[in-house]
Amino acid sequence: MQDFLRLKTNLIGLIGHPIKQTYSPLIHNLAIKIKNLDYYYLPFDVESINLKRAIDGLIALNFIGFNVTIPYKSKVLPLINYLSEEALVIGAINTVTINEGNLSGYNTDVFGVVETLINYKSDLIEKEFTVFGAGGSARAVIYALIKNFKPTKIYLINRTEDRALVIKESFREKLKFNSIEVLNLVLPDLVEIIQSSKLVVNATSVGMYPEVDDSVINSEKFFNKDQIIFDLIYNPQETKFLEYAKRSGATTINGLDMLIYQAAKSFELWTSEEFPISEVKQELGKILRDSYY
Ligand code: NAP
Repeated sequence: MQDFLRLKTNLIGLIGHPIKQTYSPLIHNLAIKIKNLDYYYLPFDVESINLKRAIDGLIALNFIGFNVTIPYKSKVLPLINYLSEEALVIGAINTVTINEGNLSGYNTDVFGVVETLINYKSDLIEKEFTVFGAGGSARAVIYALIKNFKPTKIYLINRTEDRALVIKESFREKLKFNSIEVLNLVLPDLVEIIQSSKLVVNATSVGMYPEVDDSVINSEKFFNKDQIIFDLIYNPQETKFLEYAKRSGATTINGLDMLIYQAAKSFELWTSEEFPISEVKQELGKILRDSYY
């Protein structure tokens, strides 16, 4: 990253609404600086009514690509010319490249999930899993699990059961995966199921800053020491959900690695440059330790 923008600086955007919680500009501009590249990453808070105009604007201004975040990860699909295989199955994207006015959409959250869990592959292969949530990130998690860990069963638990049922049907149709069981978020009935899952993933926004005392489960009795408990939330780094898991002796993973790996994949799609993962992890760790969350 140069100290100033130049006419030929390659611009990368982010569109979402609201976007004030995002770490993406920090992560990408850190990587650009570490690699000394002539790129710049800019966030834009875009109202729904302006979504198409904002994207047309990015094309007109010669941006080389952009990230898409809440609430546009699915809404943006009709505006994209080409969708990658995982984007088509998941029905949501977080990364777009722009090439001569053509938009290509990818879901790099999948890569973020796989890289986060890859060290546990031998523990996770052909086991039962539980996923909380039925939003865009839950779909990416389920896709990553099915493609990489051959689950014998995925229990999908969501407050709005209908959204989970749509996901079950979608993976049955698109990946021929018939082992998703949908359950409602009614806690007392769930202890045994969650206890029997080798991996439990929180892919809801429950527990995210500022609602740091909230959790989809309310006690450590849901977990045991042989489990891996993964919360996609990275702010705070230890959610209530992970606090319960830690108390039970389980292995805990927060969303920071996923955040960095999904960014790495997006960065490589835009720049064809290798993302400086360990340097960014180190710098980000310092910055987060020095701030309140
Ligand atoms: P989303 O599409 O808006 O989905 C939100 C999910 O949370 C839905 O399942 C929703 O249930 C559930 N939920 C929200 N409030 C709830 C409540 N009070 N009680 C019970 N359930 C509730 O969001 P998303 O994109 O999937 O993101 C989910 C989380 O993952 C966010 O915290 C996000 O920051 C995190 N994330 C992290 C990364 C990373 O790189 N680490 C990447 C992507 C996302 P309903 O269906 O009932 O509304």
